[in-house]
Amino acid sequence: MILYVEYSREIEKELLNVMRKFPRFSEVVFYNFAAKFANYIKNESFNYDANTLEDILINSSVESIEDFILNLDVYNESLQYNFMLNKSVHINKAGEMKNFYNDLKIYGRLGVDEFQKVVANDDFKLIWQITKDQIEICKDCQFRYICPDKRIPFKDNISDKYYKHKINCKFNPYENSWKV
Ligand code: SF4
Repeated sequence: MILYVEYSREIEKELLNVMRKFPRFSEVVFYNFAAKFANYIKNESFNYDANTLEDILINSSVESIEDFILNLDVYNESLQYNFMLNKSVHINKAGEMKNFYNDLKIYGRLGVDEFQKVVANDDFKLIWQITKDQIEICKDCQFRYICPDKRIPFKDNISDKYYKHKINCKFNPYENSWKV
């Protein structure tokens, strides 16, 4: 389980204790991390990112060929699911369960709704099943079954054939080139 939290020195120390007590937390990503925090704890489970939470979770795509994941499980999963979104649930500090960070739709609340029932909802699972074959540009990309792209696909109109993304990724499959 990955925890995303805004960087603060106090939270960083506190989380060291939490992770010892609850090993289910395998990784912490501190967002809004600035270089001025010189004395941060260098724990192998901690990742420090200068980007905002929105950029990390929604706007980031692949940067280079090194980002691709050559793995048979990933390949097989990507044939039927969006493997970066599949099985993901976002729960904010208010306990609201959503598909992704800035999703306007709230599917349930921790402590009120049963978690298993919320994630079994077909509407909730829809985004898990949006493969790269259903997304403009990605559908033509040779890397579509090994690509860890986290952008959230959407349709302008429900009748549109393909989903799209707000921001283009750096790879152009039509020219087989990377934007620098
Ligand atoms: S165009 Fe290719 S590299 Fe870029 S996000 Fe889509 S599948 Fe990944």
